[in-house]
Amino acid sequence: MLLYPLFADLSGRLVLVVGGGAVAERKVSRLLDAGAIVRLVAPELTPSLRTWTNDGRVAHVAALFDEVHLKGAWLAIAATSDTVVNRRLADAAQHRRVWANVVDDAEASAFHVPAVIDRAPLCVAISSGGHAPMFARLVRERLEALLDPSLGALALLAGALRDRIRRHLPAPAARRAFYETLFHGRVATLLRSGRPEEAQQAAEEELAGERSAVTGSVVLVGAGPGDPGLLTLSGLRALNEADVILHDRLVSPEVLALARRDAERIEVGKEAGRHHVTQERIHVLMIAFARAGRRVVRLKGGDPFVFGRGGEELEALRDAGVPYEVVPGITAALGCAAYAGIPLTHRDHAQSVRFATAHCRAAGADLDWASLAQARQTLVLYMGVAEVETIRDNLLAHGRDAATPFALVENGSRPEQRVVTGTLADLPDLATRHAVRSPALLIVGEVAGLAGRLAWFGANDAANAYRIAS
Ligand code: SAH
Repeated sequence: MLLYPLFADLSGRLVLVVGGGAVAERKVSRLLDAGAIVRLVAPELTPSLRTWTNDGRVAHVAALFDEVHLKGAWLAIAATSDTVVNRRLADAAQHRRVWANVVDDAEASAFHVPAVIDRAPLCVAISSGGHAPMFARLVRERLEALLDPSLGALALLAGALRDRIRRHLPAPAARRAFYETLFHGRVATLLRSGRPEEAQQAAEEELAGERSAVTGSVVLVGAGPGDPGLLTLSGLRALNEADVILHDRLVSPEVLALARRDAERIEVGKEAGRHHVTQERIHVLMIAFARAGRRVVRLKGGDPFVFGRGGEELEALRDAGVPYEVVPGITAALGCAAYAGIPLTHRDHAQSVRFATAHCRAAGADLDWASLAQARQTLVLYMGVAEVETIRDNLLAHGRDAATPFALVENGSRPEQRVVTGTLADLPDLATRHAVRSPALLIVGEVAGLAGRLAWFGANDAANAYRIAS
């Protein structure tokens, strides 16, 4: 059966709903949203249906279904739990040429109600032709993630400008290019950033040709520590819209695989001691691509604002007048802790948590060790694998107990994750013995001692990827 998709204007039109339960309530609610006049036939009603009836929004007929109830209706929906009644309605409606839907009975239905993604006035409707409604719902979930909530506002704005766009840009190709710019460019960015007035103004400027029709933008996206499931929905959307992706080496291939297929991918990663691309060069690239009208995603491991130089990159974009957005990511501390079963705070063990980096040119000379060594706090050190000895010595020298547990999480949240645990005194030895390599994160504090008991991720086999040593 091939269905013909259509969107019906129900405002001011009579629709019959038969049934007074939860399903009928959902149907009536949507119909009222669409401006329909609802005639509701049911002996009993849910509290909401009763309220709508009392408010005069629904005309209630307290009876069992009878064919006469179809009189004057454009559509009918059977939502009772009684198959016989539902089928009787379908037959009567067929006879009178009224379109009828029977809930969960594709065969008896003359029309189907699709799964809907609502970005009013924009609406995406999905149907499986009655074969697999659950499948349609799963597709809907996928698309929900891709379509930003600001899309409705964008469609309204485009609608308001429609006549002027048509007059200004009579050639269809030029019009299409303009809509593309609205959809992908500065106007959409401003709407997503919660700035509708500026978006309106930007659209006017672009229409008046005051700006070049092509303005690119940069989205700084946090890719999380590795597991692609830890990417945010906004991050996924940005990756789907990107023309160019400038990514760090640390970003996992699984996350990159989620990006638009034809997006250009450029690795601008830096490794300790081995600088592929300088920070200045990254700024130059981002700005040049955006100025050429490209949608740039600057994809960084973890969160862009946690030891990621995201601030510097925004400064450069701001100075260059390039529009930007920031999508946060799960920083390594949160990702590694969760995937190693280490609660960063704990009522019994740690009332605060510190994130610091041990990668200082002078091997930690300017870190405030006295405060990092405080008891009852969890210390998370980024970029510290090469410095474990200095870290241990300094923490001990500043009073942290030698028996304090630590956990080194290597490749956190990735399939090859390893966790090495022990006590502070043995940190350098254990790191050497297990040949812990970057990227690895060091967690020091009583909570690290819970890793053995609360572990849930990765192979639990010492010969394999996952190891707890003590
Ligand atoms: N902006 C990133 C941090 C960049 S600094 C964030 O928010 O996570 C790079 C350091 O992060 C690495 O040296 C390592 O200490 C840590 N790191 C990042 N990803 C990691 C991972 N999957 N496992 C363990 N450590 C990780």
